[in-house]
Amino acid sequence: AQIYENNLYANHFFDFLALPPLVLQVQNPTILKNIGPPRIEFRNVSFSYPNGPKVLNNISFVIEPGESVAFVGHNGAGKTTIIKLLCRFYDITSGEILINGIGIKELDLPSWYKFLGTLFQEFVKYHFTVRENIMLGAPDRKDENAMKQAAIKSGAAEFIKKLPQKYDQMLGKEFENGEELSGGQWQKLAIARAFYEEPPVLILDEPTSAIDAEAEYEIFDNLKNQYKNKTLILVSHRFSTVRNADKIIVIESGMIVESGTHENLMKT
Ligand code: ADP
Repeated sequence: AQIYENNLYANHFFDFLALPPLVLQVQNPTILKNIGPPRIEFRNVSFSYPNGPKVLNNISFVIEPGESVAFVGHNGAGKTTIIKLLCRFYDITSGEILINGIGIKELDLPSWYKFLGTLFQEFVKYHFTVRENIMLGAPDRKDENAMKQAAIKSGAAEFIKKLPQKYDQMLGKEFENGEELSGGQWQKLAIARAFYEEPPVLILDEPTSAIDAEAEYEIFDNLKNQYKNKTLILVSHRFSTVRNADKIIVIESGMIVESGTHENLMKT
């Protein structure tokens, strides 16, 4: 019965892989050379999901190279949609998204993805060792010291110290001696993985839902200090945890209602 069930799943999986891509590449797309964080601009961007109502309405903002920017707003405001458009999972309905002044539709997507490291709310829990869980962020980079630094900055090092085998600890109950982590611990490990990759643009889309506000603040603050010369994009529904971002953009019902530093926004 299990084989039958898994077989049905495998069919769906291969049907999915065979779907034609929704976004099409132009002929001779521009290949982005990896020369550090790019300038990102959304110019009058509006967007509706296929057959859906307008989700983003005339959004404009600029993220300068190396800036840390936070998108803040209630659930359903449109924050994740902005991130999906930046990754070109969908094409926008109107307006322009410019990367170093080049329209996103003109870009060679694989070369653009080399710039991006994203961590979404749903992340993978790899039943591997702690070390492998972190190093999978950049499999070609074999840097033990950077791996440990990533664990410290994400706040994962604290619980890793207490595991019987520390960084060699196998995770997942399927394994003899495998340890199961709590939701918050898995999240910190996923953040360490994103951190270890050190992409020019690091995007964290509310990966901290199982983490309390104080720990979230610490993680974001550590990231901001680490990411001084790289671009950091944070998405949160908590205004307080992103107070150290260079720029906070407040989204409400698909529109930008305010933007500025935490200090400026508190004054108004
Ligand atoms: P946020 O990240 O601020 O919580 P989202 O960007 O996820 O908000 O969602 C904005 C709006 O778009 C919501 O009304 C949501 O229901 C809708 N939405 C999100 N994803 C899809 C989708 N794949 N198809 C249709 N509507 C969607």
